[in-house]
Amino acid sequence: MSFPSWLSQLYRGLSRPIRRTTQPIWGSLYRSLVQSSQRRNPEFSSFAVRTNTCGELRSSHLGQEVTLCGWIQYRRQNTFLVLRDFHGLVQVVIPQDESAASVRKILCEAPVESVVQVSGTVISRPAGQENPKMPTGEIEIKVKTAELLNACKKLPFEIKDFMKKTEALRLQYRYLDLRSFQMQYNLRLRSQMVMKMREYLCNLHGFVDIETPTLFKRTPGGAKEFLVPSREPGKFYSLPQSPQQFKQLLMVGGLDRYFQVARCYRDEGSRPDRQPEFTQIDIEMSFVDQTGIQSLIEGLLQYSWPNDKDPVVVPFPTVTFTEALATYGTDKPDTRFGMKIIDISDVFRNTEIGFLQDVLSKPHGTVKAICIPEGAKYLKRKDIESIRKFAADHFNQCSLLGKLRLECADLLETRGMVLRDPTLFSFLWVVDFPLFLPKEENPRELESAHHPFTAPHPSDIHLLYTEPKKARSQHYDLVLNGNEIGGGSIRIHNAELQRYILATLLKEDVKMLSHLLQALDYGAPPHGGIALGLDRLICLVTGSPSIRDVIAFPKSFRGHDLMSNAPDSIPSEELKPYHIRVSWPTDSKAERAH
Ligand code: ASP
Repeated sequence: MSFPSWLSQLYRGLSRPIRRTTQPIWGSLYRSLVQSSQRRNPEFSSFAVRTNTCGELRSSHLGQEVTLCGWIQYRRQNTFLVLRDFHGLVQVVIPQDESAASVRKILCEAPVESVVQVSGTVISRPAGQENPKMPTGEIEIKVKTAELLNACKKLPFEIKDFMKKTEALRLQYRYLDLRSFQMQYNLRLRSQMVMKMREYLCNLHGFVDIETPTLFKRTPGGAKEFLVPSREPGKFYSLPQSPQQFKQLLMVGGLDRYFQVARCYRDEGSRPDRQPEFTQIDIEMSFVDQTGIQSLIEGLLQYSWPNDKDPVVVPFPTVTFTEALATYGTDKPDTRFGMKIIDISDVFRNTEIGFLQDVLSKPHGTVKAICIPEGAKYLKRKDIESIRKFAADHFNQCSLLGKLRLECADLLETRGMVLRDPTLFSFLWVVDFPLFLPKEENPRELESAHHPFTAPHPSDIHLLYTEPKKARSQHYDLVLNGNEIGGGSIRIHNAELQRYILATLLKEDVKMLSHLLQALDYGAPPHGGIALGLDRLICLVTGSPSIRDVIAFPKSFRGHDLMSNAPDSIPSEELKPYHIRVSWPTDSKAERAH
């Protein structure tokens, strides 16, 4: 999308009439909340010295005296200057007459990307000089006064979207990278979607936005947590991987519809498209079942969906975990295309092919296939060879066919077949996950497939005491185009069951969770919730190549902030109050000595 339409499309959602789906619950407070959310086009120039934004001026402004502030995008032959702000570009005519010598000097000498303020009149461009490609292309500004607000030194890269720059350089000078149209679009779209989510949750459905602590204590299971030293010897806070416990405790506290745009932290080391700190739309509610949460999320996404995309169609289809694995070879299938896995064991029942006979003679042995549509036409001999190699490299992983399906889709697309329509958003619920999975490091022990607070499937509770591995859970994931964008569950609200799962089945130290277990004993209501990964969702909506493109100040692949150089070292003096001493690895000691 280009400058012409994006901003107005982004903000058009604001004027959409709000359908009231719940009864007013707080009288006038509720009414004023709803009214304030019905505000129309935002005022982009209120409280500022400018009268207008650069991008908003049109023929309808002809004759108006305006003051604009912006960055110099480029200058042409000392006659024209193009001024840019977040809204767009506008052409400013550099005055040539002697009486305007000082204005001309400022506008001709200021380097590109300097920030200037100009005042003048909106005039129409001479006939034949209109630029239909520019939304402001019918007009230009006849300048009267100009002020250089701040000059710009030579830049490390040009602020033009089409200029290729390495990601490391973009992250090092993030504040410059943010000036690009694409980053402006991504961050503004993100803000819009979050605003509409708040509106939907709080104003239409009575949710309460509550902040929970980010200094917490270590919690059992799940991802590794970041530790924060305290001044008490040997004691540490930890940064929560999600507000899971707090949101459940809020239910016990009677705040029965909670949500938060929550910052979460996971110390998972370098992963290509993960961030050590990320944002979730975190939701919990009482007296609800799985279908209630699913409908809430479908409504939320439908309501907050950007207006420049095709509307979200609800309800989303649902598959069980078992079906997803059998049909797509993964629990997060990309359902934009077919190429499903088919069981062809029956065809080979009487085969004489040795290795197939071998497989089919085993207890759960099956022969499965995927059909590649028009594969013979699109795939070259070397593609078939690379598929064969891929299969050999991943042999014996049960996820092989799922990976192969995606690999073949990639190959077909590089050969020109359009398989995954980039404008299509294919949502899918995956349900009926197992409650437990074997631990990777010790398959005889169990770990929670979601987290230890997830309730078992009502019809499988008896299995917890006989064959816990077979118990299904009330855990649901939301998948979009093959990416997990959310997950949640109905929770255990019975302290005894929670204690049994933690202590007996998961072998966790229940003392660490005594506060939660105690709370469940004091009349905890039945409850459930979900969290949507906001960064990934916005990344998919904007079609960005990486989640870093939808975060204002992301960390690099290795978890570093390339702009400020965090994490950074701390003088040992400053570590003393925390009773901490660094034990340097031998090679880095040598490095420091140089
Ligand atoms: N806290 C969970 C997570 O971060 C989501 C939930 O169960 O609501 O995955």
